[in-house]
Amino acid sequence: MVTEKIQKTARIYALQNAVQFNGKANLKAVVGKVIAALKDTGVGPKDIFPVASKVVEEVNRISLDKQRSELEKLAPELLLKEKKERDFTLPNLPFAEMGKVITRFPPEPNGYLHIGHAKAAIVDFEYARMYNGKFILRFDDTNPEHASLEFYDAQKQDLLWLGIKWDQEYNTSDHLETHYKLAEQLIDQGDAYICRCPPEMMKESRFHSKSCSCKNTHPGDAKDMWRDLVTSGKQGAILRLRGDMQSANTAMRDPALFRIIDAAHPLKGTKYRMWPTYDFAGAIEDSISGVTHPFRTKEYELRDEVYFHILSLLKLRKPHLMEFARLSIEGMPVSKRKIKPLIEQGLVSGYDDPRLPTLRGLHRRGILPEAIKQFVFSQGISKVESQVTFSLVEACNRKILDPVVKRYFFVPNPMKLFVKNASKRTVHLKFHPNVDLGERTLDTHNVFFVPRDDIMKMNEGDIFRLKDLMNVKIKKIGDEITGEHAGDAVLPGTAKIQWTTEKNIAIKILVSGLLVDNNEEFNPKSLTQVDGVVEDTLSAVKNGEIVQFERFGIVRIEKDKAGSLIGIFAHK
Ligand code: ATP
Ligand code: MG
Repeated sequence: MVTEKIQKTARIYALQNAVQFNGKANLKAVVGKVIAALKDTGVGPKDIFPVASKVVEEVNRISLDKQRSELEKLAPELLLKEKKERDFTLPNLPFAEMGKVITRFPPEPNGYLHIGHAKAAIVDFEYARMYNGKFILRFDDTNPEHASLEFYDAQKQDLLWLGIKWDQEYNTSDHLETHYKLAEQLIDQGDAYICRCPPEMMKESRFHSKSCSCKNTHPGDAKDMWRDLVTSGKQGAILRLRGDMQSANTAMRDPALFRIIDAAHPLKGTKYRMWPTYDFAGAIEDSISGVTHPFRTKEYELRDEVYFHILSLLKLRKPHLMEFARLSIEGMPVSKRKIKPLIEQGLVSGYDDPRLPTLRGLHRRGILPEAIKQFVFSQGISKVESQVTFSLVEACNRKILDPVVKRYFFVPNPMKLFVKNASKRTVHLKFHPNVDLGERTLDTHNVFFVPRDDIMKMNEGDIFRLKDLMNVKIKKIGDEITGEHAGDAVLPGTAKIQWTTEKNIAIKILVSGLLVDNNEEFNPKSLTQVDGVVEDTLSAVKNGEIVQFERFGIVRIEKDKAGSLIGIFAHK
């Protein structure tokens, strides 16, 4: 009887978990749910575990389609829930155990984070959460020429803004002594050597699969040379891995492990001058910090062999390296390297320019962290490199904001309208079809402002509607428009146009376009300005608040020191 009950419950949760995670249920997750479901019946984990583990095995053997149809029969409500949540789940990780997954996000503190980093950080963070594991923030600060103090903090702030919290934080530069020890171990083993060839020659010999004579140095001598480099001011040498010069994979042709960089490090000063390369530091740190599933972008694929070779030689634990496509967006440089020059040349206003895909730029533009997260989930962790358009981010943002932000009347390029026989009124206009968002009160009479573009499409004698107020028949269009009141009842087929009264506020709206063209050249027309007026109730809006301007789009409001209004256009 009891066994049957466990079986039945476990079957349902195993099906649900399997459907959620690409057809493979996770035993621990299922057991947890069964324990919770049966806790009032006196059935304990000891009884549940063996039964559930059989059930999970059975369920994992059937196809995803069959799992789904069985779940639909047994517990349709769970399937519905799954559908709603599906967009926001990631596929199961290979070789992942509940409670034991460790991920890391390893930014280089050399710039502000962008939406590509958000993708990596969200995936790393969410996997750690999904498996009840640990998430590490590691600053890969091993190039003192690039690292800068301001970015350690800025990057942390931006991650917190995204809603990402880490369980541990450290800097790779804190581990340099360990890196040195491991480098010496490789030298002692004869697996690394000091190469003094000039860079051009190194490139040549690598291309032609030719070893150089530096490789013949005795390990003992190589170690002396290494120590000399670490402590002296000598130049012109690197530490190279004894890889395989014949390898078809050029990355394996004796890659550099350490190089001299004589620049002051923001945290370590001039204490070190031999700095590990990405190949060395990345592999070592992932391994010694216990990371089980490090994610890298696909461009590093060829370097995976180097990664594992280094760990093999040092007999260090090998993580399950994971790969996903680098995010790229049409018209937006999703790379610090490409963003930096735009700022330095003054082509954009700074790291928070709304045309940039930096998290600060997106924030300023009114893109919510939740929208970025949903966008990242919708992209998933596929390895297929493709360029997406920013409209995908906008769609996620709109879905969140459209139902909850207040709507106002903004009149771009305003034209004055005089409505002859309009009487004085006090009207209450809803902020949103959802009445919970409240209403504002406006006093109207016979002078209004309406968008020039709309009027230019009309003729004298046409009737249009001042939205939510009354109909107007156009008598004359000149520098100003004269019209007359043409009833209050909504007439089918008339254009509904937003308006303000004479009590309005001037506002300028910055509209972002594509920042770079297909050749990654800066687009000088990427930022345009729309001037207009907005109903004076907007003065109650707080600095940084996001609103919707009817028939215009979602806009984030900024107030400058003088109190002037600037709108940052997010999207339609
Ligand atoms: P950038 O060109 O922006 O400097 P990067 O890869 O050198 O890129 P890092 O600070 O080294 O920047 O990156 C930290 C992490 O973020 C890495 O794991 C990297 O793979 C990931 N990442 C960076 N850019 C992107 C992107 N466009 N799409 C996905 N992940 C990215
Ligand atoms: Mg980098």
